[in-house]
Amino acid sequence: MIKTVSQTPGCDGCPMQSLYPTNNFVSPQRPNNPACDLNRLVIAEAPGEKESKEGQPLRGPAGEEFNSLLKSADIPRDGLTVINCLNCQPHKNFFPTDPKARTYISKEQAQIAVDHCIKHHVDPVIRERDWARVDLLGVKALRLVAKIKKGGISKWCGRSVDIERAGLAPVKGMPLYHPSYLLRPWGQSKRPVTVIHLKSGLGQLPQFGN
Ligand code: SF4
Repeated sequence: MIKTVSQTPGCDGCPMQSLYPTNNFVSPQRPNNPACDLNRLVIAEAPGEKESKEGQPLRGPAGEEFNSLLKSADIPRDGLTVINCLNCQPHKNFFPTDPKARTYISKEQAQIAVDHCIKHHVDPVIRERDWARVDLLGVKALRLVAKIKKGGISKWCGRSVDIERAGLAPVKGMPLYHPSYLLRPWGQSKRPVTVIHLKSGLGQLPQFGN
């Protein structure tokens, strides 16, 4: 059963919970069974309408594009763990820290909400095991998870980056274009390189980002 954010203890104290208490909480997607577990974590941006309705990350058009990329890369989605940086659908799909979101949340409260979500829902998943690899889909994951402040995805895509974990060894991440970007007319040319990056081993990456 899908829980609302007001029924999810990790959301207590988050400004987004106060603003939208009946929003659905979108839980991580886990591998179907231990035998198909790839020990690979994918971190996307935020749920859209379909994800919110189904309580699962990366569904809808972006999810279908992601599934298509995985198929091209010969990677079974059932073997992945998938989560978003933000785990409830933001109002009008405006990520809280984006300027457009000032219509519903202040800049200060937005930062508190995003930090809360990373701390209570994303960091625990990153820390739960030594992931063989973490795929960071889009600039939000680049900034919020890998803590890279300068340069966009076009600079960082396909590069191996460290994801620090206090008290634990870092895990390796790879920034990639977000599937929703690849769906846009100007993003389609980045599709082949994204498939290559999905398939590449972290130690043997071609540098397409510069
Ligand atoms: S932003 Fe994250 S922590 Fe806040 S209510 Fe939504 S899911 Fe919960």
